[in-house]
Amino acid sequence: MRAAIIRKHGPLDAVSVEDMPEPEPSEHEVVLDVRAAALNHLDIWVREGRPGLEVDMPRIIGTDAAGTIAELGPRVHGMEEGDNVVLYPGLNCGCCEFCIKGEHSKCTRFGIMGVQRDGTFAEKVVVPASNVVPVPDNLDMLDAAALPVAYLTAWRMLFSRAELLPGDTVLIHGIGGGVAIAALQLSVMAGAKAIVTSSSDEKLERAGDLGAAHGINYRTCDDVAAEATQLTGGRGVDVAVDAVGADTWPADLSALRKGGTVVNCGVTAGAEARTNLHQLYWNHLSALGSTLGSKGEFRQFLRYSVYARRPAVWLYPPYHT
Ligand SMILES: [Zn+2]
Repeated sequence: MRAAIIRKHGPLDAVSVEDMPEPEPSEHEVVLDVRAAALNHLDIWVREGRPGLEVDMPRIIGTDAAGTIAELGPRVHGMEEGDNVVLYPGLNCGCCEFCIKGEHSKCTRFGIMGVQRDGTFAEKVVVPASNVVPVPDNLDMLDAAALPVAYLTAWRMLFSRAELLPGDTVLIHGIGGGVAIAALQLSVMAGAKAIVTSSSDEKLERAGDLGAAHGINYRTCDDVAAEATQLTGGRGVDVAVDAVGADTWPADLSALRKGGTVVNCGVTAGAEARTNLHQLYWNHLSALGSTLGSKGEFRQFLRYSVYARRPAVWLYPPYHT
């Protein structure tokens, strides 16, 4: 089969498309014919290399995919060859205290496709059977492949971690990013009001088309937190969604209302952020971290996504998974 692999970290030409042996499933695994695979910023970090991101070489890259089951391991049940499925991209041990509780992305040995094992930019990929979920009827393979990393991450941040409620206001930074766009769409679907930021008026306009209530261009706005606060009538935002890190963290804390929650899932602008602890304790703020989501949250999100293209239907996501 053909696959995109890296043999060392480097620029784009570190990626080569080569013939690789076809994968074979072990007892509890399935082989997928990959129909669609989506790009994430993570793919660039894997290729370039980042501190703390250990990748065994050579490695087939790629994290997201949807495909058709081509082969089942002998102890797999509940699915058949020919089923169209979307991949849960997290890897977990199955036996640590968090896996036992169903909190898969907290697994003490948590990993991700394309990093800790061969990924999805290939004609075939082998994965644990517990990592595939049927593609909802309303989604085609292209759409399904684009969902897992970005939308599951945003889902967990908004609903499991921050417990976003209808009528809440959510501040979302860097609206061009995948998690940010997912957070915008999910917030709007849940009946929340979204304030988004970007350096691009074009991206802000597009976010408006997707349902953002307000856009702030941080290149031309002197004080993003003050602007966001003003847009809530002086109250402050209920939730801040942050995948940026050092550049936006101080504004998150300043923009939150008393009792508000900031959730971070990434540090594209740096991991060492300034925190005003007075704001934290005096305003009873919650500062939370989040990575991907569990297999239960993934299934819950996919069920919920069935309603995404029915604008007349409003459905509030329950918190239990
Ligand atoms: Zn585990």
